[in-house]
Amino acid sequence: MAGKTACCCGMMPWFKEGAPLRYPALSENVQTEVLVVGGGLSGLLSAYFLVQAGVDCVLVEQGLLGGASKFFGGFSCDGGPSLTKLFSLYSRENALRLWQSICQTVRDVETFVSDVAPGCGYKQKDSFFFTQKEENISDMKEEFRLRNFSGFPCEFIGADDALSLFSFPVCGGVYVKNCGGEINPVALADGVASRLTLCGGRIYEESSVVSMRKKNGNFFVSKTKNGFEITSKAVCDCRGVELLKRYPGMGKRKTVFSLCSDAAPNLSGWPGRCVMKNDEKKRPLFIFGADSERVVLQGEESGILTPSGGFHGIETGFLFDVKKESLKIQAEEMFLGESLSFPFFGAAGMVCTSDGLPYAGEDRNLPGYYYVCGDGRNAVVNAIHCGRLIAGLYTGNGKETSDLNASLFSMREPE
Ligand SMILES: Cc1cc2nc3c(=O)[nH]c(=O)nc-3n(C[C@H](O)[C@H](O)[C@H](O)COP(=O)(O)OP(=O)(O)OC[C@H]3O[C@@H](n4cnc5c(N)ncnc54)[C@H](O)[C@@H]3O)c2cc1C
Repeated sequence: MAGKTACCCGMMPWFKEGAPLRYPALSENVQTEVLVVGGGLSGLLSAYFLVQAGVDCVLVEQGLLGGASKFFGGFSCDGGPSLTKLFSLYSRENALRLWQSICQTVRDVETFVSDVAPGCGYKQKDSFFFTQKEENISDMKEEFRLRNFSGFPCEFIGADDALSLFSFPVCGGVYVKNCGGEINPVALADGVASRLTLCGGRIYEESSVVSMRKKNGNFFVSKTKNGFEITSKAVCDCRGVELLKRYPGMGKRKTVFSLCSDAAPNLSGWPGRCVMKNDEKKRPLFIFGADSERVVLQGEESGILTPSGGFHGIETGFLFDVKKESLKIQAEEMFLGESLSFPFFGAAGMVCTSDGLPYAGEDRNLPGYYYVCGDGRNAVVNAIHCGRLIAGLYTGNGKETSDLNASLFSMREPE
C-alpha cells in the first residue's frame, strides 16, 4: 500500500513513510495465557503492557496491524472530553479524577514513545478548543473557568486575540499548553509491535477470530478464519467498531473523514505549535498541524455504513466525494492566500462513546473476558491509558493503575 497513489485514495501519507511490518498468519493451533483480539492501538498497547507485566500473550489481527490509526490525522488529541461534560455526568470528585488521569497520560506519552517508538516523530503541542458561534461563548468561558478553578491552568482567547494567532476567524476558545501532540501512528504501531515481539509476545496478521467458546469453565477456545484454534486463559477484546456488536451500549459508530495537505514547510504560525477542535456537536472539526509541515482537517458523521458494512473501506462513492469537497472548502477558507494542496483523503469507522472516554474492564458476566474500546478522539492517550489498566486488572497488581487514578474507567461497564 506504499506510494502516493494509494495514499490519495484512502490513506494518509505516513502510511508510506512507515510501511508496516508484516507478521505471519496463524498456521497452527497455539496456547497462550491471554489472547488479544485486534491489532489497532488498543490491542497493541494492551498486549504490550501485559507482556511487560510478565504475561504470555498472543495478538491476532484480521488484516494488517494499526487498525483505524492508518487513517489518522496522526496525533494524540487534546485532553479528551470537556470538563463541563464530565461534571455534568459524574460526581465532582470522579470527574476530576478522570480528567487528572487523562492529563497525566498526555504527559506520559513523551516518555513512553521515546522508549518504545523513538522514530514516531512525536512532538508535544498546545491545544485549542474553540467556538465559531457567538452564542456558545458563555459555555466556552464556563469550561475555561472550571478548568482553572480545578487546577488545570489554561487561557481564554477571545476573538480579537484569535485574529492575530490563527489563520481563520474564531469567536473564542480555551488554550492549553502542551496538551496535545503530533505523532506518526503507523510508526508508533510498528514500534510497539517490535517491542512486543522482542519481549516474547506473538503477533499474527490476517488471522481473524471467527468464533469463541469457553471450555470446561476454564479456558477460552477461539477459532480463526484460517482454521486454527487458540486456547487461552483470558481474552482481551480490542476489535474497535466490531465491539459494538457485543456491547452496543459502549457508544456509536461514526465515520471520520480525514483530509491532509502536501508538505508545506513555509507555512508559519499555529500549525507548527497547536492542535485544535471546535465545539460543534453535529459537525465536529479537528485540525492538526502534522509533521510541522502538513495540515490535517477531520470531520465526523454518524450513522454512515461503509459499502462493505465492515471496518474500513469508504474509498469511493458519492458521499466520499461530497465530504472531501466540503473539507477542502473549509481548508481553503482557513488558509486563504496560502498555496496549500490537499491530495490525501481517507475515511473509516470508529467508536464514539457518549462521554468521550474509553471503556476498559472485565466483563462481569464472563470472567476472564476483558475489553478495551478507545474513543475516537484521543486514540494514543486512550490506548496507553487502557493498556496499563488492563494489565493492572489482569495481574491483580493495581499499583500502576491506581497511581494513574484510572480505576474509574473500569467502573463504566457496558450495557
Ligand atoms: C479516519 C480516521 C481518522 C482518525 N484520526 C484520529 C486522530 O487524528 N487522532 C486521534 O486521536 N484519533 C483519531 N482517530 C480515531 C482512532 O483511529 C481510533 O480511536 C483508534 O484507532 C481506536 O483504536 P482501537 O485499537 O480501539 O480500534 P481500531 O483501530 O479500530 O482497531 C481494531 C482492530 O481490530 C481488528 N479486528 C476486528 N475484528 C477482528 C477479528 N474478529 N479478529 C481479529 N481482528 C479483528 C480490526 O481489523 C482492527 O485492526 C481516527 C479514526 C479514523 C477512522
